Amino acid sequence: MPATPAWPPASLPRLFVDEALSEGAAIQLEGGAANYLANVLRLRPGAEVKLFDDRSGEWLAEIAETGRKKVSLAVTAHLRPREPVPDLWLLFAPIKRGRIDWLVEKATELGVARLVPVLTERTMVERFNLERLRAHSIEAAEQCERTALPQLAEPARLDALLRQWPSERRLYFADESGGAPLASAARPGPAALLIGPEGGFTDAERGAIGSLNQAQPVSLGPRILRADTAALAAVSLWMAAAGDWSEAPRRTRDGSIAD
Ligand code: SAM
Repeated sequence: MPATPAWPPASLPRLFVDEALSEGAAIQLEGGAANYLANVLRLRPGAEVKLFDDRSGEWLAEIAETGRKKVSLAVTAHLRPREPVPDLWLLFAPIKRGRIDWLVEKATELGVARLVPVLTERTMVERFNLERLRAHSIEAAEQCERTALPQLAEPARLDALLRQWPSERRLYFADESGGAPLASAARPGPAALLIGPEGGFTDAERGAIGSLNQAQPVSLGPRILRADTAALAAVSLWMAAAGDWSEAPRRTRDGSIAD
């Protein structure tokens, strides 16, 4: 007897909308989202779409009308609440364009709650497009079925961040010159990972970080990792040891989250 197919199917298109969703709400999509549904996927009235608003969770909606540049939808059912995200910040020195997009995309997929570009003495890239990074983060959240978007903070100077560091938040400082293995040092609770620029931290910066009570130097192994690799490795280690990776939801055969 074939298994009852999951409802709604995981294969439904999934979009973020920056407005509060509720049952019966009428949603107007324009621009890229409308083009994607109407012209790329060629969906027509009656087709179903998943929407999330980073406020109330994920909803099912039905296409009411499609035009060349606009798509109207009616929200029909609440699918699941906004997920609780482990309280992990990723502080990273900005790197070149393609690689910073990749880093933001991967950090979103891995479950980071807040992304903070940090300007250090050896940071090469000081100017980058935060709106473009936000778009990358939203696209990654749409694909990895997140219902909570990571916050993307304005770039901040390292010294300013350290001066106002929140007392309850642990700071795991990825230091290629040595530290405790992150896998064993990671603890649940408010945390932050600090990844340096390609040129590394200066001794003065190391001193300033080390003088923070909440800071702990951690090692990511014997090899010198590139900054984006180090960020990925650090987030993965913390998520596995202290995040929500041990709570993986049960999924049905077609990939949607089982009740
Ligand atoms: N300054 C270094 C050099 O050129 O010798 C390399 C810096 S590395 C490319 C960029 C950042 O990744 C470092 O500042 C550190 O935060 C992190 N990182 C790289 N490898 C690491 C390791 N094995 N353990 C801890 N952190 C590491």
